[in-house]
Amino acid sequence: ATPTALMVGTGRGAKMDILIKNGEVLEEVSDIKTVVFDKTGTITNGKPEVTDIVGNEQVLTIAATLEESSEHPLATAILNQAKKQNISSLAFNNFKAIEGKGVEATINGQKAFVGNDKLLNDVHINKELKTEMIRLQNEAKTVVFVGSGNKILGLIAIQDAPKSTSKEAISALKKRGLRTVMLTGDNNRVAQAIAQEVGIDDVIADVLPGDKADHVKDLQKNGKVAFVGDGINDAPALTMADVGIAMGSGTDIAIESGGIVLMKNDLRDVVKALELSRKTFNRIK
Ligand code: ADP
Ligand code: MG
Repeated sequence: ATPTALMVGTGRGAKMDILIKNGEVLEEVSDIKTVVFDKTGTITNGKPEVTDIVGNEQVLTIAATLEESSEHPLATAILNQAKKQNISSLAFNNFKAIEGKGVEATINGQKAFVGNDKLLNDVHINKELKTEMIRLQNEAKTVVFVGSGNKILGLIAIQDAPKSTSKEAISALKKRGLRTVMLTGDNNRVAQAIAQEVGIDDVIADVLPGDKADHVKDLQKNGKVAFVGDGINDAPALTMADVGIAMGSGTDIAIESGGIVLMKNDLRDVVKALELSRKTFNRIK
């Protein structure tokens, strides 16, 4: 009866566009204590858009020039905005992407950069820009600084709205007694604002891509952990978690690393996947 129950369970899942890749995850599901979520593309739509630019046209021109060589979702947002405003990019060389921080290259013999405050090192942010930064971050917008040499020329705010179903999904998980956590490389203010919108209990922000799995390991001290994510940088966390749940829209490596794949990219399917696994496992036992 054991393999039959498993097949029925995975078959039912497939009908709901929930792929259970192996039977092993079923055992883990019944005592999950914490569900950890990546932010971009998991809780949010993953389609960020530029909402505010502080500074003159040079800001978007430099940003678009540097982001042409980046594959980050923020880069796509900046390039879309540049296209809308008919901005053409400049000549550059020495492009470099710095994980979790931003990108830089040489333009007109000067080092130009786009990224968060971790990229700035000793470049000074003046008081007005800092006030703007805080205001925008509190509106759940990701802020990147654009600069050249040792000067900040301005900033760009980028918004990525939560999926319409994320709030309902989080609330259903909390009702089942699960703790919900957001794990993100984005700034803490932005992460807190989004967490509040969707009702997430706890936030771990400013996490460097290589450190996500370590945070999962840490959370496992309080019981079994499910991790839900979509990005390249989520793959180690998906593997580390007791149950890894990948978005079907995610990167190939995330999908490979997950034991469960949600083809509809809807977080309400996390609840369904956990319920289905629990029922199937009880039938196998
Ligand atoms: P996430 O958890 O949102 O996927 P990442 O680790 O990819 O986070 O990025 C974290 C932060 O690093 C971004 O919010 C941004 O501030 C900065 N960053 C990374 N890549 C870029 C880029 N190409 N352009 C501008 N900023 C970037
Ligand atoms: Mg993501």
